Amino acid sequence: MAVTCPACGSENVKVEKVQGSLPIPYGQPATFVETVHTCNDCGTSADFTGENESIVKNALEESAAASAAAMLEDLNKEGITQAHFERALRLPARTAARWKDGAVSAAPLALLRLVRTFPWLLDVSDANFEPTTAARAVLREAANLFFLGVPRESVTNAAWVYVRTETQTVVAAAMEFDPQTAVSISPPTESASVEIHSLFNAIPATGG
Ligand SMILES: [Zn+2]
Repeated sequence: MAVTCPACGSENVKVEKVQGSLPIPYGQPATFVETVHTCNDCGTSADFTGENESIVKNALEESAAASAAAMLEDLNKEGITQAHFERALRLPARTAARWKDGAVSAAPLALLRLVRTFPWLLDVSDANFEPTTAARAVLREAANLFFLGVPRESVTNAAWVYVRTETQTVVAAAMEFDPQTAVSISPPTESASVEIHSLFNAIPATGG
C-alpha cells in the first residue's frame, strides 16, 4: 500500500525505521522500532500512517508489566513478602501474584511504584492511616536518610538521641513551612558526614 504525504499528496515517500527507547521506573526501558516517513517532494517528515502510537503503547505496557514482577522481587528482598504486601494494603490474597504474572493495570503499577519507593507506606496502611502514626513514619524515615552513613559508634547515646530529636524537629519544620527543603533531604555525602560528625563532637554528652 502506497503511503501518501499528508502535506502535498505525493506518494514519493521514503520509509525509515528508527530504534526508540523510553524509561520505565524500576524496570528495563521500553524499546521499540518506530517508522519515520519523509516526503521526497516537499520534505515533510513524520509518522504519516499513525502506526507508531500502538507500537510505543505496546512496548510501554510490556516493560511496565515486567517491572511489576521486578518491584515485587525487590520488596521481597527487603523482607516484604507478597502476603505481607496484600495484608497491609487490604488486598485479596493472590493479588500480587496476578500482578507478577503480568495482569497489572495502571493503578496497581502506580501503587507498586509508590510502595517500592516508600516501603514504610505499608506500615502507615497497616495502622489504618492513623495521622500520628503516618506523621511519625515520615519523620523516622527522613531522620534515617539524614543519618545514613554516620558511624553510630562514634557518638555517645545521649548525643545520638539529642541530634536525632533535633533532626526530626528540623525536618518537621521544613515540611511544614518549606516543602522544597524537605524534598531536598538526601543521604549525606562524605563531606556532609564529616560535618555531622564534628557537630556530634560539639554536643555535650549530658544532653538529651
Ligand atoms: Zn509532501
